Amino acid sequence: MKKDIKSYTKKELEEEIRSLGDKAFRAGQIYQWLHVKLAESFEEMTNLSKGLWERLEAEYRIMALKPVQVQVSKLDGTSKYLFELYDGNVIESVLMKYHHGNSVCISSQVGCRMGCRFCASTLDGLERCLAPSEMLEQIYQIQKLSGERVSNIVVMGTGEPMDNYDNLVKFVRMISDENGLNISQRNITVSTCGLVPNMRRLAEEGLQITLALSLHAPNDELRRTLMPVANSYSIDEVLAACQYFFEKTGRRITFEYSLVRGVNDSEAAAEELAGRIRHMNCHVNLIPVNPIKERDFKESQKKEILNFKNRLEKYGINVTIRREMGRDIDGACGQLRKSYREKQKEKEGEECGHTE
Ligand code: SAH
Repeated sequence: MKKDIKSYTKKELEEEIRSLGDKAFRAGQIYQWLHVKLAESFEEMTNLSKGLWERLEAEYRIMALKPVQVQVSKLDGTSKYLFELYDGNVIESVLMKYHHGNSVCISSQVGCRMGCRFCASTLDGLERCLAPSEMLEQIYQIQKLSGERVSNIVVMGTGEPMDNYDNLVKFVRMISDENGLNISQRNITVSTCGLVPNMRRLAEEGLQITLALSLHAPNDELRRTLMPVANSYSIDEVLAACQYFFEKTGRRITFEYSLVRGVNDSEAAAEELAGRIRHMNCHVNLIPVNPIKERDFKESQKKEILNFKNRLEKYGINVTIRREMGRDIDGACGQLRKSYREKQKEKEGEECGHTE
């Protein structure tokens, strides 16, 4: 298979081009075509020599995502994109427009193997990891299709970024490279369910990104009923890794807490949570759980949500309630992809003559 040229950092590309017997400055030109001008074919790269151009055509391919569906919310202009990858898999990404800029939520894997109970992305397990180029492309395509400049990125779509570690780190370096789109690392948030060893590795990469931890419960017992990963790492271990990340980077941790009615939204739960995190430099993001049809979790009621917030604030903890975006366009993360795949399967069934 041809090499994925869009996944090379500028330095790696320089080595590639040198190995082809050409000058390193050519790599700078190609990198600019790929990552600033967002070229999708070698043909567009008009300033390259014919010889180099032919070598590139023969040995490399330019990874491009194909938009197969775009849904725009009538409520707030949020857009959900469904992209097809070169191997026929589909992933989803979201563009959210805020006063402070445009934020894109990207996927890091096709499917997920973490098994969180309330999450639609994990229902069919993990298909494969995304290459750096496929993470970059979600942003490049959205910029092109929407005509909007993207200033913020959240890696909170389908997949567990700490389960695709090397590609994730490379993606962060490339999207924030001054020779590329140059999006500030301070505007990038990576969310994890809490894979402790890789959280600690991430702390040592010298990155200025925000780490968000999906906590969702104040104690291990409850967390294990919602998140299988809690069987591998205790909350103490996960919080220690968060503290380490803060010490190494100076970046305040975000805790995500999805509120599920009658499960983790009591005042006692809020008290217990406050006890564990009040001494940390952190921020809590409360997310009313987005119900999925495969499970019977319900979102907490307004009153419970406010009570929960107030309890945490009493301890001086910084809390926000996540504003729901694009509620009218296929609810929770992973649902657009899931409903698309179900429709595809139905179609295939019809074509084969099945009547079920
Ligand atoms: N795997 C990563 C990132 C993807 S999920 C992680 O676990 O953090 C991004 C966030 O959305 C996580 O906090 C996740 O727990 C939460 N989430 C997933 N499904 C949800 C749902 N149906 N309702 C509310 N939050 C959900």
